[in-house]
Amino acid sequence: MSKIIDGKKISGEIKEELKTKVDRMTKKPTLVVISVGDNPASSVYVKQKEKCANYIGINYQHLHFDSISDDELVNKIGKLNADKTINGIIVQLPLPKGMDEVRIVNTIRPEKDVDGLTYLNAGLLLNNKTSLVSCTPKGIMELLKREKVNLEGANAVVIGRSILVGKPMMNLLINANATVTLCHSKTKDLEKITKKADILIVAIGKKEFIKKEMVKKNSVVIDVGINRVDGKLYGDVDYNDVYSKVKKITPVPGGVGPMTVVMLMKNVIEAYEKNN
Ligand code: NAP
Repeated sequence: MSKIIDGKKISGEIKEELKTKVDRMTKKPTLVVISVGDNPASSVYVKQKEKCANYIGINYQHLHFDSISDDELVNKIGKLNADKTINGIIVQLPLPKGMDEVRIVNTIRPEKDVDGLTYLNAGLLLNNKTSLVSCTPKGIMELLKREKVNLEGANAVVIGRSILVGKPMMNLLINANATVTLCHSKTKDLEKITKKADILIVAIGKKEFIKKEMVKKNSVVIDVGINRVDGKLYGDVDYNDVYSKVKKITPVPGGVGPMTVVMLMKNVIEAYEKNN
């Protein structure tokens, strides 16, 4: 097996599996993506989602608002919640400053919350119950599974505690019987902790922050970071620096990123299957 965890290739395989599944369905699942304002990164992600949905055969609707009040958006989501033909709803984050993301996201019915961000879905995950799980950590679990990385009893260190990545990642790893340490910007002696990690998952948003001396020899390193500098993408891990020391590593781009979009489609199909 290669040292590089090829997220592009693995996500491509999953995409084919999902396409085959949807091809066999008489009715197709439907995803609605809501975006507000003009965040350039969000537009890129929304286009990637559309392309992937179209390929798999998932009906895709994009509702874009140049601007909208919280109440109006909550109303719109209420209508989508009630529409039986819609299986998945996501609100593209971040919303423009001043909008109440927590209230808006939690308006989505949990059965349609294919980003896994509502309180109910986060709570179900915490309790190790079946739920729709946040796409990036779900994709990382799939990468670890397909790469046959043993999680039981492994020392896993997650850096970053966002509700989108770090916290669901921590819960998924705990549910898989890993011993998990969650680090963040106030963590003391970070290097001392990361050096003990059999599996190190980095989601902080700082270009090439993790260096060779911070990783354990023969560890598995998952780089979630996407840092755009002068039009080029960098991870949170200094890939070239750590490469020779680790057993497996995800590149940026081509590692975690492509998995996230495909996992969203997997969630839409799961939501559809559960309610049809
Ligand atoms: P976020 O909400 O900004 O959270 C960043 C986390 O990193 C926070 O918990 C923060 O700690 C911690 N942190 C920041 N500096 C640190 C430091 N020096 N040492 C230790 N911890 C530190 O970010 P996010 O949404 O989780 O995203 C993280 C990165 O992943 C970003 O680059 C983002 O673009 C990328 N991302 C990629 C994908 C993908 O599909 N590949 C998906 C989502 C996100 P505090 O909590 O103490 O502030």
